[in-house]
Amino acid sequence: MATTLPHWATGKEFSGSSGRFGDVTDPATGAVTGQVAFASAEDADQVITAAAEAFPAWRDTSLTKRMQVMFRFRELLNERKEEVAQLITAEHGKVLSDATGEVTRGLEVVEFACGMPHLLKGGFTEGASTRVDVHSVRQPLGVVGIISPFNFPMMVPLWFTPIAIGAGNAVVLKPSEKDPSAALWMAKLWQEAGLPDGVFNVLNGDKVAVDALLTHDQVKSISFVGSTPIARYVYETATANGKRVQALGGAKNHMVVLPDADLDLAADQAVNAGYGSAGERCMAISAVVAVGDIADTLVDKIKSRTEQLRTGDGRRESDMGPLVTAQAKERVLGYVEAGQQSGATLVVDGREVSPDADGGGFFVGPTLFDHVGTEMSIYTDEIFGPVLSVLRVDSFEEAVELINANPYGNGTAIFTNDGGAARRFSNEIEVGMVGINVPIPVPMAYYSFGGWKSSLFGDTHAHGTEGVHFFTRGKVITTRWLDPSHGGINLGFPQNE
Ligand code: NAD
Repeated sequence: MATTLPHWATGKEFSGSSGRFGDVTDPATGAVTGQVAFASAEDADQVITAAAEAFPAWRDTSLTKRMQVMFRFRELLNERKEEVAQLITAEHGKVLSDATGEVTRGLEVVEFACGMPHLLKGGFTEGASTRVDVHSVRQPLGVVGIISPFNFPMMVPLWFTPIAIGAGNAVVLKPSEKDPSAALWMAKLWQEAGLPDGVFNVLNGDKVAVDALLTHDQVKSISFVGSTPIARYVYETATANGKRVQALGGAKNHMVVLPDADLDLAADQAVNAGYGSAGERCMAISAVVAVGDIADTLVDKIKSRTEQLRTGDGRRESDMGPLVTAQAKERVLGYVEAGQQSGATLVVDGREVSPDADGGGFFVGPTLFDHVGTEMSIYTDEIFGPVLSVLRVDSFEEAVELINANPYGNGTAIFTNDGGAARRFSNEIEVGMVGINVPIPVPMAYYSFGGWKSSLFGDTHAHGTEGVHFFTRGKVITTRWLDPSHGGINLGFPQNE
């Protein structure tokens, strides 16, 4: 029985009146399991208005009380993370352990936001001038919009939501239409944690809902995560409408393997980072850059490891689940075909996989290409599937040049035992997040997450102190309590005394 997934506003489900819906599928079986409401501009206005009405009281709620909600939310999320992991696997397809892992990474941001009283502290200068004191505060923005992608239905909303709410804002979250249940689950959890109705809202839908957020007067900021073309559109449209914007886009992440590296470790990590979550991670490794004469050995080691991977339903004992939709599968198969046509060597063909599933699912097995050239579409495009490409170069310098020439700059990694080479790599590489013998260097919550170049539009990364800065605006207050004897007229610009 397909369920209907509504919006969430003023602390309850809200059906909206657009009459438009989208299918939600179980990627492991292909079955349609739900119908998600697609908001009209009027529906969006109602949800945004609910948030705007809840904002003043939440802004004026003491930090102590706000943090009591945050701590309670943290406890509930920790206790119930397996429950939401089931929902994620049923709509996204990733294996259950991976779904639980994404909730855990999101939980770290909730824990970071529990320190908001410290993070919001301003400065105070006593006696900046005679009997003049100066202090600074950071205040919430109002209604903030968060637009998230399908690949992390809990973690990405949690990169922003706890910080936004902790700082005193009201949130409207527009989750991906492909896996919206986690957002609705989260809404109920916030309510259970004691968050006042209207402070956290869910607006479901497609471009209509997104455009409403980007243009609505009451929405003060947009935090977007998704593909690069949409990130660019969101950045341009929302900034043109006077909003503060952070728009995180797509990626092509390289893993450089130097000749001195431990090749077994490098092969393990290439497989983990290339095929985990079927390659549907913005920090997935999609290009291995083999330096010098190690390439044949490295490719053999990666190939033998792919043969041990179990592809199947994420609720079974699988290492890798299906792709999110039938279209995503078709797209990936198109790239495999194009890779073959363009002359790359297909070492492992994921089209031949026999998944452990009941049939009808959107499976592609691990796929490995060798001798990939930088002009081939399997290299230039973000495939977002379980397809790993090996490029061969002769030197460290050539590897750095290749990565720096790529338009994306989200994550990268180097595998080596040479500290000097690793240090030079982290210094010279034009990428926002760098791993040294770490394939997926997602920063901890108290640092900030974000790429460079076409992987991020705007100047503020997600979470950490940059996140606190994004969701607040600074105010400086200059105070003078006059001594009665210091009155008098003086039209000159005040001089420090
Ligand atoms: P997507 O760009 O298709 O969708 C992201 C969001 O934008 C969704 O909520 C979707 O409903 C909305 N959207 C889609 N088309 C739109 C349009 N034409 N106008 C307005 N809104 C639109 O991305 P996706 O397929 O859900 O997610 C995968 C992409 O996200 C990949 O490119 C991946 O690299 C990227 N991603 C990046 C990061 C990062 O931190 N940089 C993290 C996760 C995912």
